[in-house]
Amino acid sequence: MIVVMREGCKKEEVDRVVELVREMNLKDHVIVGTERTVVAVIGDDRYKDRSVLESCPGVDRVVPILAPYKIASRQTHPESTVISLRQGTDAAVGGRKICVIAGPCSVEDRKKYLEIAQVVKELGATALRGGAFKPRTDPYQFQGLGEEGLEILAEAREQTGLPVVTEVMSLEQVLLVAKYADVLQIGTRNMHNFNLLQAVGKTDKPILLKRGWSAKLDEFLLAAEYVIQSGNPNVVLCERGIRTHEEYVRNTLPLAIIPAVKRESHLPIIIDPAHGTGHAYMVPAMCRAAVAAGADGVMVEVHQDPEHALTDGAQSLTPQAFETMMKEMKAVAEAVGREVSGTAVSVK
Ligand code: PEP
Ligand code: MN
Repeated sequence: MIVVMREGCKKEEVDRVVELVREMNLKDHVIVGTERTVVAVIGDDRYKDRSVLESCPGVDRVVPILAPYKIASRQTHPESTVISLRQGTDAAVGGRKICVIAGPCSVEDRKKYLEIAQVVKELGATALRGGAFKPRTDPYQFQGLGEEGLEILAEAREQTGLPVVTEVMSLEQVLLVAKYADVLQIGTRNMHNFNLLQAVGKTDKPILLKRGWSAKLDEFLLAAEYVIQSGNPNVVLCERGIRTHEEYVRNTLPLAIIPAVKRESHLPIIIDPAHGTGHAYMVPAMCRAAVAAGADGVMVEVHQDPEHALTDGAQSLTPQAFETMMKEMKAVAEAVGREVSGTAVSVK
């Protein structure tokens, strides 16, 4: 259930509610909104006496939450959440501006990475991407540069001023990746790795949580709940396509998840049409559609020489294609009352 406090209620009144919730052997999660404070009550509250809370001073009403994800639910937190990608910068996801996370699939080499980072920055990217630890189906293929890749990402951040997003694949990597990256990505294969979700939930970095390729919406939001419940409220959801019988695409990209997430949750959602389709030629159209459908951002792969990329070249945009895509996205964003963050200027 959630306890919705009256507008302008006193702190002591919220504290009293928290005390009573704990006496009931339930967990509390206080959310201070711009208009109201809400106390989310976590745990099995089916047999608890709601009237005790209802009659507390400062309480407006007590509402049962039916969804299993309590803190990720929009019922608990009616305002949409805006997540800063790096403190002290204006790079954020949620809100009016649409964020664009861009860069190659993997960090392959220092010089090439620093070069493409500068290019996507000049074309208006909000944040940089690039895998240092790569989840590969085939153990004989490029596995990423590991810590060296993280160092390159940190250098790119210094040069461009853009936050960096990179994947953390295992529990042992969490502290190392958090030392270098601004945003920790949980890949599709790890969406159900509950220990990892709890571990990144104990860091103070925003989390980019990709949907498991066979996960249902409920399971996706429950994965986000694991992170938030562990102490980290900053979760950006990322739809990256699911496995279906279709073969003309690498994955099927269900854009209908955008309005569904917006209805169910206050968390921002971005779309990754590179993994979501597997084909560079489809990426710009899916980005335009995502913006039109209300997504808070996109994540795309950009490589200066996709044909020779070590990973995911077929779905990587060239800088020129990225530039065109940014212009098109800007036009769609304007049409739906949004704005693409960053200012695109043409590369030489
Ligand atoms: C990636 O973004 O590089 C990646 C591996 O994505 P996913 O986990 O969605 O396959
Ligand atoms: Mn990739």
